[in-house]
Amino acid sequence: MIAENIASIRARMDEAARRAGRDPKEILLCAATKMNDAARVREAVAAGVDCCGENRVQELVQKSAAHAYDGAPVHFIGHLQTNKVKQVVGKVELIQSVDRLPLLQCIEKEAARQGVVQDILLEVNVGGEESKSGFTPEQTPLIAAEMDAFPHCRLRGLMAIPPVSKNSGDNRRFFAEIQRIAVDIIAKKQHNIRMDILSMGMTDDFEDAIACGSTMVRVGTAIFGARNYGGTPDATGLPK
Ligand SMILES: *Cc1c(COP(=O)(O)O)cnc(C)c1O
Repeated sequence: MIAENIASIRARMDEAARRAGRDPKEILLCAATKMNDAARVREAVAAGVDCCGENRVQELVQKSAAHAYDGAPVHFIGHLQTNKVKQVVGKVELIQSVDRLPLLQCIEKEAARQGVVQDILLEVNVGGEESKSGFTPEQTPLIAAEMDAFPHCRLRGLMAIPPVSKNSGDNRRFFAEIQRIAVDIIAKKQHNIRMDILSMGMTDDFEDAIACGSTMVRVGTAIFGARNYGGTPDATGLPK
């Protein structure tokens, strides 16, 4: 099931890329693995996702120990508390969800302590939603301009989760705005920046995101099926 789902997502990604006149190889598929156990994650890795994205530190630690991600890089894509930064820095290829300055400062400090350079994305709250974290579209270029002050972090791009939309296509303007912000940052040729990743698009809108320049889609439901929030979790806490 998981392998078939991934094959069909790949076909849709390729088609969306071709429609946009883009090379399908430019666009990576990140499996959003939250609430799916190590065995299911291993299946996704075996089926050839480009990377895995984990939301919670506890799941990251447990599934890493269970070798869930062996064969694919793992990224952190959830809200990261500063007191858990130690468990993430140096352990993931990319922290996609740097959503506030104190977190960036904390990652810098921990990366310096470990003597590593941590690749990061800035998360942009492109819909200006109260309920979501992230830098505003106005703050984002200002933070990018300060990356010299964070020599143990390398800015690789932007990540965004636009508002839940009613109609397909509604989010295109948000994706287009993210692309515009990234293009503006790149044009300034600042230090310590290699902006080559635009992480945007999920199960419901990844084709629109690809049309607007996404280089990485983060897909959960279309790979693993619906997640069972609420409900009575079974021993694994995973959907049946
Ligand atoms: C869960 C999640 C996704 C995937 O969402 P789906 O709609 O299930 O594809 C992508 N990005 C982030 C940050 C997530 O938490």
